[in-house]
Amino acid sequence: MMNKDNKNPFKVTVTTLGCKVNQFESESIYSELHKLDCQISNGNGITDINIINTCTVTGKAAMQSRQAIRKAVRDNPHAIILATGCYAQSEPDELKKIEGLDYIIGNSDKHRIAQIISGLKKLQKQSTPIIIHKNILNQKEMPKTIAPLIKNRTRPFIKIQDGCNHFCSYCIVPYTRGPSRSMLPDDVLNILSNLPKAKRKEIVLTGIHLGRYGLDFSPPDSLLNLLKRIKQANIIDRIRLSSMEPVELTNDLLHFIAEPDFVCHHFHIPLQSGDKHILKKMNRPYDPAFFTRLINKIHDTLPDAAIGVDIMVGFPGETEEAFDNTYSLISSLPITYLHVFPFSSRPGTKAASLPNHVNPHLIKERRNKLLNLGRKKKSAFYAKMIGKSLDVLIEDKRESSSGKLTGVSSNYIRVLVDGDDSLKNKISSYRITKILNPDAVLGESMT
Ligand code: SF4
Repeated sequence: MMNKDNKNPFKVTVTTLGCKVNQFESESIYSELHKLDCQISNGNGITDINIINTCTVTGKAAMQSRQAIRKAVRDNPHAIILATGCYAQSEPDELKKIEGLDYIIGNSDKHRIAQIISGLKKLQKQSTPIIIHKNILNQKEMPKTIAPLIKNRTRPFIKIQDGCNHFCSYCIVPYTRGPSRSMLPDDVLNILSNLPKAKRKEIVLTGIHLGRYGLDFSPPDSLLNLLKRIKQANIIDRIRLSSMEPVELTNDLLHFIAEPDFVCHHFHIPLQSGDKHILKKMNRPYDPAFFTRLINKIHDTLPDAAIGVDIMVGFPGETEEAFDNTYSLISSLPITYLHVFPFSSRPGTKAASLPNHVNPHLIKERRNKLLNLGRKKKSAFYAKMIGKSLDVLIEDKRESSSGKLTGVSSNYIRVLVDGDDSLKNKISSYRITKILNPDAVLGESMT
């Protein structure tokens, strides 16, 4: 596709906010536009089309999305500015107030962006944005996707599932992503086998509700069956699973993950609260006792596995006692790192209209207490690795300050090693010799 003077290909840039699923979708948009001979730009300099893949999971993410759109308008006043993603799906009328925006395309039609652009007779600025948007709650299937164009990632994110049927009371995602739907196993294998060889060392499988993979098929299938098929196909060295809901980490899945050298020994599990009353108000499908049994089972099965946990602080009605229940539950469990999110009231969710919203200063204080606890847990985990050998994938880059090669272990530890570029993009064993800083350890080659 050529720009106005019909001499040069359209220059396109995509700015991505939010989760791994959004990252994957942006890379798929790049891939589709690349097929149409568009020139992929990193956003510096003049571009013809600026796409902003927005997020609205928190108030802050929505604000950052608006800022990114305004920046694109400012930096490239003649370019076509197109907003897509969860904010475009949930509040198109809000976005259309932003001057200079030309297209607002909901998640319902995000997969058609390249087709929409290639269908435009000519690219011209719009006086008011054109909105392409459908009720996503009616979406039944995941549209076919081509292998993403992965520019600067050694470990690609591959989205195999979208949407969620659960409606946790604080979460806007089911309204912006629609019901749970999965990519057909053959399509998953097709995408994986079409990735460049260098990008097949480690794949991060992701989704909005990954553990629900395959349950929407008739007859229903499962994430475990898909993992077994990928293993049999022998096209990927190792798989990392992104966030998994507690109730979906079954014994069978845990035992499959425990088998050596295929699924990374890294679990990321949203707990959100350690208080049973708050969990009920959140509409979360488990209680602290269930969560305790699960974490101890994982730790007993894989003592060196990474166990990361999401926590939300400041949910409406969270008393000092409820917060203490969360703090003491986490302290008591073999968790290795924490992600802590302040409650953010989202329009249209049940929690937005709950009474007893918590004072923002208190939320900040509680968040800092948990972040401190998370740091202690992480450094204790790193200390436990000293002297052990870990399987590390050395990535395509060097650490800027030390110039050392950098990689990630199966159990999600950043490992820096000395060596030449021949070590890049390979999984090898390294003995951990010391902690370098709160986020990295030093590894010594075992070969
Ligand atoms: S499981 Fe809950 S938190 Fe996760 S996407 Fe679904 S509704 Fe949101």
